[in-house]
This record gives sequence, C-alpha cells and structure tokens, in this order.
Amino acid sequence: MSELLVFGHKSPDTDSIMSSLVMADLEKFLGNDTTIACRLGEINKETTYALNYFKVEVPQFIESISEGTKVILVDHNEFTQSANGIEKAKIMKVVDHHRICNFQTTEPLFYMAEPVGCTCTILYELYVMNNIEIKPTIAGLMLSAIISDTLLLKSPTTTIKDIKAVEELAKIANIDYRVYGLEMLKAGTDLSDYTAEELINLDAKLVDMNGNNVKIAQVNTVAIEDVLKYQTDIEKAINKIIEEENLDLFMFIITDIVNSNSEAIVLGKRTDMVEKAYNVKLENNKAFLPGVVSRKKQVLPVLQENA
Ligand code: MN
Ligand code: MN
Repeated sequence: MSELLVFGHKSPDTDSIMSSLVMADLEKFLGNDTTIACRLGEINKETTYALNYFKVEVPQFIESISEGTKVILVDHNEFTQSANGIEKAKIMKVVDHHRICNFQTTEPLFYMAEPVGCTCTILYELYVMNNIEIKPTIAGLMLSAIISDTLLLKSPTTTIKDIKAVEELAKIANIDYRVYGLEMLKAGTDLSDYTAEELINLDAKLVDMNGNNVKIAQVNTVAIEDVLKYQTDIEKAINKIIEEENLDLFMFIITDIVNSNSEAIVLGKRTDMVEKAYNVKLENNKAFLPGVVSRKKQVLPVLQENA
C-alpha cells in the first residue's frame, strides 16, 4: 500500500498539528497503516508546549508533494493554504471546520465538515462514531487543539459539541483542562524572541476575496502594548510581504486572550475593506476591534462582504 500523508494548513497552529497526528492514529484503526502525520511549517510555542506535555514527537516537515500522492487534508481545504503541488495530489479525505473555497477533486472522496470550534472536535466524533477507543495521549492532543482554537471555550466559534468533547477528553486524559489550558495558551503568548518577520508569519492565512489577495495574520498575547512596541518593524515586514506577494491587503491581528479584544495593524491598497467592515477609521494604520477574537467568524466573513 502506498503511503498516505495527512497535514493541516501552512503556518500550522495547534489544531493543524494535532489533527494530523490524531487523524494518522484514527486511520490505523480504519485500516490504513501507512498514514504519516506531516506539517507544512514550523510549530509555534503553544504547540511545542502541548507536544512536550504529552511527550509526542513533532510531525515530519514536508515542503511540497509530488503528483499523485495520496493525502488527507485536516483543518483546511483552500489550496492557497495547502501544500505546494496540492492541485496534482489525490485527496482521499478532508476533515475541516472552515468555509469551503476553491476546492475541487476529480474523484469521489470522504469529506467531513462541521461548523464547530475545532477540527479535533470532529475527529473526536469520528472516534465515537466508529467505536474506537481513545488513548489518553490522543485525548490530550485533541483537548489541546480544542482549547487552542476556542481560546479555552471563550471564542464565539465555540459550540456545545466542543464543550462536550473537552469534558470527555479531559476525563480520558485525566487532566484539569482549565489549569492545563491556561498554561498552554500562555506558552503561546511568549512572543519575545521572534523577529517582526517571524511574528507576521506565525499564523498567517492567504485568502482570495473577490479577486483581492488578502493575508490575515494573528497572534495571541496577554498585553497588546507589548506587541505594539514593535509596530515600526512590523509595518516594515508587512510592507515587504505586500510587495513580494502582490497583496492587496494585509491585516495583522493582535488578540488579547484575557480581555477578548483585538488591535489590528492594517496595510495595503484595500485598507478600506477593514474600515468599512468595522465602521472605523484607521489611525496610524491601526484599529481597535472590541470583542473580536475569531478570524474565522469575526474577520473573514465581514471583510469578504466589503471586498
Ligand atoms: Mn487552524
Ligand atoms: Mn482549526
């Protein structure tokens, strides 16, 4: 049997990494022994914390895939966010919780999408549906992903299914998810040793909005002003990327995970999209966005409407 690669999106977050590892485990039970968990970029500090905690190794890094490779996509479906060469891969399965965009295959596939807070919530359901036992380590990985994507069940993307999954998984992993979750999220807010360039690429997503090339990056912090200290350098890095990647808009969202607000640094020729979407006037290329924490639910759709 040829190997089957499973990976999440570029600029991987905790959900993309954990979903790959968990999906590879699930596939073993479903009869695919040759599934390999992969990643498309460097892992962040939050994910590192979680992997170390549960003593699980980082998935293998791949840059691109060759024609005809069998793959499973988790935590994404848009080709702009996927592995280089994805157009010519054989997509066997997709498990995701994002909008479906510019996605097509030539052959039938397994596609499971649900508007829940995290891909791992859907994977949890797949274990239950298939009556497969969840090992404590796998439970810990799924739990970490759900806590990450929902900001400890506080994000507006959180559903009753996410809450139920977290409660069940915490029992299996035998941990106090509130204590563990806060420590894990805090590990991810340590941005001190990143360069401005790294900062804007930690969690960046390229999306097409009515023909506009839009990149939206996000970082979590416990103090927005700590990040804004580097605004000049951050803007320089953003302007460089706008030039190199021919972007129409770059939005860098700095999210305060304690107070659930964000500040955005916005550059490019379509900054009007952000001004219209939130009914704000940018000052010094910045806008404060009260209550905004979710790119998926509170940024992407409103920008799209104003593209
Ligand atoms: Mn993700
Ligand atoms: Mn996700």
